Amino acid sequence: MPLIVIVDDRVSNRNIFAKLAASIEADITVRTFGEPVSALDWLKDNPPDLVITDYKMPNLDGAQFIARFRQLPNCEEIPVIVITVYEERSFRLCALEAGATDFLHSPVDHHEFVTRARNLLKLQRHQLLLANRANMLERELENSERTKEIALRDSSQRLAQVIDTVPALIRATARDGALLFANAYQAAFDGVDASSVVGSNTESIHGKERSDRDAALDKIVFETGKALPPFEEELTDANGFTRVFLTTKSPLRSNGEDVQGVLTSALDITARKRMEAHLRHLAHHDSLTDLPNRILLHECMRKLIARARRGDKLFAVHTIDLDGFKAVNDLLGHAAGDDFIKTVSKKLQSIIRDTDTLARTGGDEFIVLQSDVTCNEDAAELAARLLDAIEDSADFDGAPISISASIGIAIHPADGADVEELLRHSDLAMYRAKAEQGNHFCFYASDMTARARQLAVLDKRLQRAFENGEFVLHYQPQVDLATGRLIGAEALLRWNDPESGLVAPSLFLPRAEENGLIVPINEWVLERACEDARRWQKLGLGSIPVSVNMSPVQFRRRTAPLHVARVLASTGLDPRLLDIELTEGIVMSGIESVAADMRHLIDVGVSLSIDDFGTGYSSLSYVKYLPVSRLKIDQSFIRNLPTDPNDAAIVRAIITLGHSLDLSILAEGVETAEQMERLRAEGCDQAQGYYFGRPAPVEEFIRQATQAYSLARSA
Ligand code: C2E
Ligand code: MG
Ligand code: MG
Repeated sequence: MPLIVIVDDRVSNRNIFAKLAASIEADITVRTFGEPVSALDWLKDNPPDLVITDYKMPNLDGAQFIARFRQLPNCEEIPVIVITVYEERSFRLCALEAGATDFLHSPVDHHEFVTRARNLLKLQRHQLLLANRANMLERELENSERTKEIALRDSSQRLAQVIDTVPALIRATARDGALLFANAYQAAFDGVDASSVVGSNTESIHGKERSDRDAALDKIVFETGKALPPFEEELTDANGFTRVFLTTKSPLRSNGEDVQGVLTSALDITARKRMEAHLRHLAHHDSLTDLPNRILLHECMRKLIARARRGDKLFAVHTIDLDGFKAVNDLLGHAAGDDFIKTVSKKLQSIIRDTDTLARTGGDEFIVLQSDVTCNEDAAELAARLLDAIEDSADFDGAPISISASIGIAIHPADGADVEELLRHSDLAMYRAKAEQGNHFCFYASDMTARARQLAVLDKRLQRAFENGEFVLHYQPQVDLATGRLIGAEALLRWNDPESGLVAPSLFLPRAEENGLIVPINEWVLERACEDARRWQKLGLGSIPVSVNMSPVQFRRRTAPLHVARVLASTGLDPRLLDIELTEGIVMSGIESVAADMRHLIDVGVSLSIDDFGTGYSSLSYVKYLPVSRLKIDQSFIRNLPTDPNDAAIVRAIITLGHSLDLSILAEGVETAEQMERLRAEGCDQAQGYYFGRPAPVEEFIRQATQAYSLARSA
């Protein structure tokens, strides 16, 4: 509600002016005073919106009144209209200087009075509004400044907290190496107090070597004014633990341009590096033995080849393949097979030097890279020791296993220029070693590539031979040493090859074992032998038991008992006339499943012999747990029996042991009368060998048997 104050010493004027003022707009309060001092007294507590004053008044004139009015609080901007009869300029100036806003001439024109007063009121109101707005803005501005300040303070506090808690080392260093700042993580890592460390030289915290290195890097940042690209570094904390960091160094500028310090922040990437290393390790190592795998092996070989190019020594690649491991695996079970591989890998590892590499590249295949080889003898010497180590592993977990290995050796650069060629040639040499009955090492020779091709040809020819019925059986007599009578015949396989004639089993059976053809071949042998034995009976030769050799592969597949029963049924041969020869290798490797198959065979009614006895195992006592009825002493003990006391001792031990277990003993490979006499003297029961008869085709065997039979009858 606008307040208009009128000061005039004449009552009539006051009344007129009051009326006029009240007519300006609705809701106007008018207050009149006849004397200026009392007006001022009231005005100091009631600031008006407009003052209309006479100039010529008692006590104070208009100018004095205005001057004092302007001194009152909040009154300097309020419009004041002066009503005067004077027209002089000096008088007006005086009033203006005192603070008058406008003038009205007396006698007052009513319309002019109302118009001027209204305009001034409006102006006043407008100014008030502006002033308020300005005030408000000012306050708002003040407020917002304050919030910003608070926000800034808060965020820098928070930032400091963040900087303190991020798992990163953060510090700033000055040009002279003094520490400007270190976050809590950095301080904890260095084992110092973050607040007290500022200002000290980093050398006192990090030692000379590290701080020199840091200073050199910082220098680059100071000189170039640019950040360094992130780099990885290993840092050791106050407790001696080393961790990996990804470190960045960037310039700290104060007023835009000057580099005042270097900010070093290092992110702990130890876990990531560990994970990376773990993944890398997994990708490059065999999971069972933790040995390098083929990928890492290739990497090592490439390095060795590169070194060789720089004039280093030769290196040798030994490809090691276990002989007969498949049987061990199948018969003992995969878990035991795995344990066995681990045992072998440890043995091999203990043989090689630190500079050599042992890798596992297949189920039963290992490769040794032998560095610093000066001549073939170096490689031969290592290969021999590797073979010994593998034989050593045979006494595995208390159960002796017949295991040996074949090693092929290729030497860089003579036997191959690159990784692939070296591995291929070492592999070929290994196959040559295997072909030579295993437990053997062989150097690569340039004709081996041709041999590999021959092997593929052999596979095809064997398959065709089987389909074309080119296999035949020869029979070798077995005699009773006491009476000289025929007590059986061993069926021995031959390949009647149209190209090269009669081929001995040692030349094709190992290959047939490898490619699996042995199974159908041996099933044919069993059937043929049973038919022949049946025929001998029908021919009136009496009951001559037939011995059939069985392959480890048949026991691995566990088809032997069923097949034997089926063949006996189809041929009608009395089971007591069939003897199955198992090698020590089969008998020993399988323990449970082989023992079970052996019991099944016994149930069928056949008898079992252990062939080549004495070649594989030092322990003879296991025989008592097996359902066998005969041991066939290997011919290697018979050859020098009359002259070698060791062989004689072994043969005597086998005979004594066998007899104590109620087994009959047959000596294989008896070629001379001397050998026979000696065996007879030792109490050996039976014999087989060229001395009594060579393996012969069935017709030939029948002829000899008929003669022997009639001789015996006539005797
Ligand atoms: P083996 O079962 O130990 O057979 C005896 C081997 O000794 C035969 O060789 C035989 O010819 C040879 N031999 C016999 N008497 C003498 C002798 O007085 N002096 C010499 N130096 N050797 C003699 P062969 O026929 O070459 O057979 C070799 C091996 O092949 C056999 O050894 C046997 O393990 C295996 N074999 C033969 N036929 C078969 C078969 O049908 N199936 C399977 N799985 N293996 C067979
Ligand atoms: Mg045999
Ligand atoms: Mg034998």
